[in-house]
Amino acid sequence: MKSSMPSELLDIKSIDNDSDVTTSTEHLVVSDAMLEQAMQRYEYNQTTRRIIHQEKLLPIGLVSRLQASYPEHSGFIENKRFLFHGKDHYTGLSGFREVCSILATNGIEIGHIPAREFFVEVYRFLATRHSLNSINWDNYHQDSVFQLVFAQPGMIEPEATRRYIEASDPKARTQIAIEYMERTNPHDGNQQLNKPWFENEAGDIEFLDGSQHKYPQCQLIFDKTTQNCFSFCTYCFRHAQVRGDEDMFIQKDIQQIHDYVRQHKEITDLLITGGDGGYMPASRLKQYVMPLIQDPRLLHVKNVRLATRSLTFQPEMILSDKYSDMLELFDILRDNGIQLAWMAHFSTPRELLNPSTIAAIRRLQNHGVNIRSQSPIMHHISLFTDDKGDVDVAKSAQNWIDLAEILGMMSIGFHSMYCARPTGEHHYYTAPLAKIEQIFNSIYRSLASINRPSRHISMTISAGKLAILGTSIINGEKCFALQFTEARNMQWMNRVFHAKYNETENKIDCLVPFDTDEYFFEAELKQIETQLAQALQTRLNH
Ligand code: SF4
Repeated sequence: MKSSMPSELLDIKSIDNDSDVTTSTEHLVVSDAMLEQAMQRYEYNQTTRRIIHQEKLLPIGLVSRLQASYPEHSGFIENKRFLFHGKDHYTGLSGFREVCSILATNGIEIGHIPAREFFVEVYRFLATRHSLNSINWDNYHQDSVFQLVFAQPGMIEPEATRRYIEASDPKARTQIAIEYMERTNPHDGNQQLNKPWFENEAGDIEFLDGSQHKYPQCQLIFDKTTQNCFSFCTYCFRHAQVRGDEDMFIQKDIQQIHDYVRQHKEITDLLITGGDGGYMPASRLKQYVMPLIQDPRLLHVKNVRLATRSLTFQPEMILSDKYSDMLELFDILRDNGIQLAWMAHFSTPRELLNPSTIAAIRRLQNHGVNIRSQSPIMHHISLFTDDKGDVDVAKSAQNWIDLAEILGMMSIGFHSMYCARPTGEHHYYTAPLAKIEQIFNSIYRSLASINRPSRHISMTISAGKLAILGTSIINGEKCFALQFTEARNMQWMNRVFHAKYNETENKIDCLVPFDTDEYFFEAELKQIETQLAQALQTRLNH
């Protein structure tokens, strides 16, 4: 939908009067009035409006350029009434039923309710008002956010689904869901082996219950305040964490983290994750970061990464006065030479192209936050099939090319793309590696170098993050070229190695070595894993 030209924009027609070039303003398709309408549609309160105006978070030039470039993805000037109002989020089986009831009132029956409820009982359900209103309900089957947040028929194995549906009562159904949880591979990649430990001042061994230290530079923290998410992603590879399984990672003691990091000078990054790192209150984040500034023995920590999907699921949180304490903290970090890297997980353009997300991005950037996207490539969400059911390489690649360009326009770094991990309902989100490699190549060669993902597409396995560099021909035979981008032994990253080409395989660690019996790192990996398992056992015995 294009508008007539807003009069105030015509003034920029001749930026340089001496120039013969007439600057076209045809792309300036959004007016102040239209933005005002969008703010009404999003039901912004006075505070949010004030923040947006005072901090110039939605400049007409930017919004117009995004709208004109990507009208097919944009929600800026849509005017259909939102279906969800008031309530911030809907959670659990009752939340799911409430959402279905609101949809039904509006004439939308998504169907397959018992099968979807089975998934909800196994993996949980949580959706924010923002994510629900991001869905195009006129065409929800094709909508990526619908696929991201709503269980779909065919996700869970038919036999288990049939038993659930036919169970005699709610109690019996819940029991079937509990039994199914055992089969969801909650801890793929041997994550339990990554729990770090250290000898404290009293000479005792202390394990960090809510932390992982797998790669030298980066320490993951699963704080007690970040055990929740804004919305739950159906493909979540941390479902044990968000579901609250007994053996999840929870960090309660902050000082323990600093004690450990003081002894590990190789650590440059603290990665606050979860759940969702965006849940951490400013007061608690302050307890983590102030010692980094005040204690010279922690000078080696240069980056604090916050892994959060709040920009996709609840950007309005950032456009409130309550968020000021967090912004002040970001200012302090910037003024003390510590990078706050905000790790978002955008995988479709529509997640960005709405007033709330754009305004929130700019607000964070105004406080020195460096936003990057590590983006999941997931079938049905950011990877698509054609009418025949084959992976549509061109359409899938175009989604990513558009996304990368928009990230560039918003000064967001395109950190990486990663494949579905073999956990949860992996079969639904995955695709043959051979197809994913073709899509990645198309994305890579179509983008200017500054907008390309900073590394090749990867999949996390116990050994590290393994990337597919491309295909090669050796002695007339086609093969995959692989390289670690992170590894349990960082020396492994120096080496490119090969696996037999395979048209159908979707798990990188199931690829067969090309010309050897086993990969060069396998013997050492076994050794490392055995040592870590022994250390873990020692901890369990005490
Ligand atoms: S935000 Fe992350 S942890 Fe939370 S549901 Fe999504 S994938 Fe899982």
